[in-house]
Amino acid sequence: WSRSDFPWSKKLEANNKKVFGNHSFRPNQREVINATMSGCDVFVLMPTGGGKSLTYQLPALVCPGITLVVSPLVSLIQDQIMHLLQANIPAAYLSASMEWNEQQEIFRELNSGCCKYKLLYVTPEKVAKSDTLLRHLESLHSRDSLSRIVIDEAHCVSQWGHDFRPDYQGLGILKQKFPNTPVLALTATATASVKEDVVQALGLVNCIVFRQSFNRPNLWYSVIPKTKKCLDDIDKFIKENHFDECGIIYCLSRMDCEKVAEKLQECGHKASFYHGSMDPQQRAFVQKQWSKDEINIICATVAFGMGINKPDVRFVIHHSLPKSIEGYHQECGRAGRDGQRSSCVLYYSYSDYIRVKHMISQGVVEQSTYASVPRRNSNASSDRVLETNIENLLRMVHYSENDVDCRRLLQLLHFGEKFDGANCSKTCDNCHRALSYTEKDVTNAARQLVELVKSTGQQHSSSHILEVYRGSLSQHVKKYRHDSLNLHGAGKHLAKGEASRILHHLVIEDFLREDVKKSDLYGSLSSLLKVNESKAQNLCFGSQKVFIRFPTST
Ligand code: ADP
Repeated sequence: WSRSDFPWSKKLEANNKKVFGNHSFRPNQREVINATMSGCDVFVLMPTGGGKSLTYQLPALVCPGITLVVSPLVSLIQDQIMHLLQANIPAAYLSASMEWNEQQEIFRELNSGCCKYKLLYVTPEKVAKSDTLLRHLESLHSRDSLSRIVIDEAHCVSQWGHDFRPDYQGLGILKQKFPNTPVLALTATATASVKEDVVQALGLVNCIVFRQSFNRPNLWYSVIPKTKKCLDDIDKFIKENHFDECGIIYCLSRMDCEKVAEKLQECGHKASFYHGSMDPQQRAFVQKQWSKDEINIICATVAFGMGINKPDVRFVIHHSLPKSIEGYHQECGRAGRDGQRSSCVLYYSYSDYIRVKHMISQGVVEQSTYASVPRRNSNASSDRVLETNIENLLRMVHYSENDVDCRRLLQLLHFGEKFDGANCSKTCDNCHRALSYTEKDVTNAARQLVELVKSTGQQHSSSHILEVYRGSLSQHVKKYRHDSLNLHGAGKHLAKGEASRILHHLVIEDFLREDVKKSDLYGSLSSLLKVNESKAQNLCFGSQKVFIRFPTST
C-alpha cells in the first residue's frame, strides 16, 4: 500500500502540500489513504498525534461525493470543522443539540444535486436516533455521492474497551445499509480483543489493518509509592525536574483537583484546576490560560484531555490510580508531543484501588470526555461493562505493583506489541534500577492467606489480614481474638511489602475479591476480603501454584 503510482497519487501529493501545508506523509498515512481509496474497509490504530484526520480528510477532498464522519464529541467536531473551513474545505455537522432550522438547512444542501460539502460530521446518537439522516444518506448513496464512512474513536464501539459508548454499537447499521461504501475505522487505543470486537460490530469485510507502534521513546515512566506526603513529593519532583515547565496532574475526584492545585500554588507553582463540575466558560478560561503559558500546571480529572494539542507538556503526573492501562497510556501520551524528553510519574497506593473500585461501582467516577457508560441499571450488558471496568482497573494495579519488569514492555504488551525490554535504555524506573529478580514460589503463603481470610469469616480488610498473618498483637487483632488462630504469625518471616504483594497478587488473580462498601454516614470506605471459592479450590486443594517475581536486593 505504500506505492505512489496509484491513479490518485499525484493529486494526493499536490493537495497534501497545497491545502494541508504538509511536506510529506507521516508513517502509515499514505498506506491508509491508498487502501481506503482502493475501496477496502480499513482499521487504523495510530497513536494520538499520529495524523489520523488527514487519512480521511485528504481522500474526502480528492474523491467525488461526501465523506460521512462519525465522531463522539461536538466540541471536537467543531474544532475539526473550523480547521477544514480555514483550509477552504466545505464541511458541516449534524448533532442532536442543533436547532431544527440549522439541521433543515444542512439536509436541504445534502438533497441538492450539487451538494457543496465534502465532509459531513455526525455524532453517533444522530445515526442511532435520526431516521431523517439515514434517509438522506440513502439518497446520497443512490446518487453515488456517499464516498466513504469514517468512524473516529472506533474503540468506543467495544464493551471491552475503556471508553465504551452504547450509541457506537448501533453503527453496524451503516455497513448493512451501504455494503459497498468503504468504511475507515480509526482509533489511538485498542487491544487485540477490542479490535476484533470493533470489526465485528461495524460489520467490516476483509478489513485491512494498519497498526503502528505505541512506543513513545521520549516518555520516561515511573511508579512511586504514594504516602501521606504525596503532595510534598510532587512539589519536590516538579521543582527538581521541571520547574516552570508545563504539566498535567491527573486526579481522581473534583475535590482532589482543587486540593492539589491549592497546595501547588502555596508552594509557588502557577497551577490551576479543571474538572467536570466547572461551567464551560470557566473550563475554557483555564484551558486558554494553560495554552498561553499563563499557568504551567493543570490539576485535572480525565475530563481534561481530548483536543489538547500542546506540544511542550513536560510531565504528566497521576496523583491516583488510572482506571485502565489504555487510559493511562493515552493520558501519558499528552506529554512530549514535540518529541522532547518528558516524565510520566504515577503515585500508587493499594488503597486508591479500593477507592477507584468503589467509585466505578457507584458510577461516580468522572469519565474521559466522550465516554458514557451505563452503570446503575442492572441489565446484563451494564453488568458486563462493570466487570470489564474492574478487570481493567486490576490490570493497572498489576502494572503498578510490578517493580521488576520494564514499564514500556508491560504497556506495549497490553496492546499486543512485542518490545525488547533491553531497548528501553533505562527510561523507566524498573530498568533504571536494573535490579535482577528472582521468581519465588509463594504457593504456601498464598494458601495460608486464603485460609486466613476464610477462618476470620471473610469480614476483614486486607490490612487486618496482613497484620494477623505477620503476627501483630495490636488491639484490633486481640479484640477479634485473631491472635489465637493457628495462622497468626504464620508469615512473620516475610517482610511487610512481600506479604502485601502476595495478598494483592491473590486479588489481581481473582483468588480473593475486595468487597468495597461505604461504612458510615460520612462515606468512609471499608473493604472486606472475600474468597472466590471456585478459583481458590484449585489453589488450596489442587495443583495450582503461585509465583511472584521479587527484585533481588543489591
Ligand atoms: P490524531 O487525530 O492522530 O491525534 P491529528 O490528525 O490531529 O492527529 O494530527 C496531529 C497533528 O499533526 C495536526 O496538527 C496535523 O496538522 C499534523 N499532521 C498530520 N499529518 C501531518 C503530516 N503529514 N505532516 C505534518 N504534520 C501533520
